[in-house]
Amino acid sequence: MHVASMDFMKRRYGRFMNGRVPASSRYQPTDYEHAANCATHGLWIIPSLVGGSVLYFLSVDQWQAMAAWLYGVGLSGLFVSSTLFHTVTWKITHLRQVEQCFHMCDRMAIYFFIAASYSPWLILRELGPWSCHMRWIIWIMAVIGSTYVFYFHERYKLVELLGYMAMGAVPALVILSMADRAGVHELVLGGVFYIVGVAFFKSDGIVPFAHAIWHVFVAMGAATHYYAIWRHLYSPGI
Ligand SMILES: [Zn+2]
Repeated sequence: MHVASMDFMKRRYGRFMNGRVPASSRYQPTDYEHAANCATHGLWIIPSLVGGSVLYFLSVDQWQAMAAWLYGVGLSGLFVSSTLFHTVTWKITHLRQVEQCFHMCDRMAIYFFIAASYSPWLILRELGPWSCHMRWIIWIMAVIGSTYVFYFHERYKLVELLGYMAMGAVPALVILSMADRAGVHELVLGGVFYIVGVAFFKSDGIVPFAHAIWHVFVAMGAATHYYAIWRHLYSPGI
């Protein structure tokens, strides 16, 4: 692009996006981006609480009730911690320690959210003698991931991203080998939303509102997975 027209773009659209930063530092969103980051996850707090409760009330035994609790808490916990973190980074920037703490909670919530998303399938579906151990292994993985965040937060960003990818992919191998195939298509589609979203997660300063777009993909992935759980694990008669 011509230099003059780039200047023009910067002046015209600069409030929607700041410049890219090196991997060692954190991108500074513009006010518009901050607002979008808060809204795109804040909007889902109440629906996720309602959604978790719906599954709980549809439960006919203790296993369904337990899975509804785990999933409901993981789902709403993700949106609550994300919204809190984005609000704090936007409005309380002078309290670095507090901001750092909220950022860590946001990152840890992702690990528990992944474990929670798989739990209803691992608890309620018939699995093989080996694969049924994945029920508790995912929670150990979430604890390991969170411990890593606690000690090495932001130090090796790529390792963190690989940790999420591994945690997302490993239980999928077990789920995809289930004898009962109902819901597998929705699970894959939800996974695709997350994977496409990661491209935006890594595009701060290149695409305006990149992080908010990532949030939208997360919400679409979560909504697809919620639908699959509601439809195939809690409302089999429909
Ligand atoms: Zn975020």
